[in-house]
Amino acid sequence: MQKKTVRDINVARKRVLVRVDFNVPLDMNSGAISDDSRIRASLPTIRYLIDHKARVILCSHLGRPKGEVVEELRIAPVANCLSQLIGLPVNAVADSVGQRIENEVSELKQGDILFLENVRFHSEEEANDPYFAQKLAQLADVYVNDAFSAAHRVHASIVGVAKYLPAVAGFLMEEELNAMSKLLTSPAHPFACLIGGAKVGDKIDLIQNMLKRIDILLLGGGMAATFLKAQGHEIGHSLVEKDKLNLAQELLQEAEEWKVPLILPVDMVVADEIKVNTVTKVVSISDIPPTGWLVDIGPKTVELFSNELRKCHTIMWNGPLGVYEIAQFAQGTRSLAELLSSVNAVTVIGGGSSAEIVHEMGLTDKMTHVSTGGGASLRFLEGLPLPGVEALPNKI
Ligand code: ADP
Ligand code: MG
Repeated sequence: MQKKTVRDINVARKRVLVRVDFNVPLDMNSGAISDDSRIRASLPTIRYLIDHKARVILCSHLGRPKGEVVEELRIAPVANCLSQLIGLPVNAVADSVGQRIENEVSELKQGDILFLENVRFHSEEEANDPYFAQKLAQLADVYVNDAFSAAHRVHASIVGVAKYLPAVAGFLMEEELNAMSKLLTSPAHPFACLIGGAKVGDKIDLIQNMLKRIDILLLGGGMAATFLKAQGHEIGHSLVEKDKLNLAQELLQEAEEWKVPLILPVDMVVADEIKVNTVTKVVSISDIPPTGWLVDIGPKTVELFSNELRKCHTIMWNGPLGVYEIAQFAQGTRSLAELLSSVNAVTVIGGGSSAEIVHEMGLTDKMTHVSTGGGASLRFLEGLPLPGVEALPNKI
């Protein structure tokens, strides 16, 4: 990676402001953290700083408080969770900037960890207010960005602050960028993209940017319906993005021009309704009834996709292949997640839902890389710059 990292600077005795993305899911009833994987993902950076005698100041957003203090979105429970995971005290303070916080920071000793309050309690954060960015910068001597999953945001703690301090990438940022850029620049071939998710519109730019790099494209999920319709198939009640039909046709043609086989499902699970305990049946795509919803890929498609994926040396997966939130419609997605965890290939998972499934199935360690950033990884693979990464200087 070209960006400077924590390895390239001296952090001993320095006050180090670390932007992490600990925007973890909270249980609606209890407020408990339901998935701590984002916190775990930044542990290597925090541990490294502690081991190298830094004074650590952490900064994160949590949820969408929209510039106001929201009690349920205070950072303290997240700081507690980190404290347990890292086995060290973590002092959560009640604001992100100002005299009181500066006093707290001045008390920090080597190896201490202070956690600033949810930075989105200040509207200046999302507005990338330069004065607010300066106030954050005043707290520290060095800035480390480990928040890959927020790197597509032009916010004060991500972009603004990097102007006022020596800035470097953390290990998670480095790992994410390495995994993603390898896909764009030097993937081992054959290289397959497996793409699902709800809508074609969300993934068009991704598909277009990947077509010139891949050897095969496998499509499932809600968007498959639009492609099947574009090929003249019946698709029942399934949501077809009418304005996207032409786009689907164009993509089919583009794939042909790049000589990339675009493989669509050959059978689908059709449900009477999109809800639990409904009647389902598996039909071939030539027998889709005019009523019913296409909710998952069928077993023949799982087999077809699996056979193709087994031949590949690199696989990028983004988006569930069915309405996986309902267990009955999750089989296709689960089978392919299982397959990816067993193949002898570089496997990179992007997309919030896809990553969630992999974590939930306990397969994370069997994949080469599971991105912590849905929106950020999508943007990166679309070939667009990430403002939070652009703000970091290159190695000399
Ligand atoms: P990711 O977060 O992994 O990038 P997306 O956000 O693009 O994935 O899409 C996730 C959503 O796609 C899920 O909520 C899932 O229910 C939906 N989806 C997948 N397949 C279908 C389908 N056949 N019909 C309707 N929605 C679907
Ligand atoms: Mg998503």
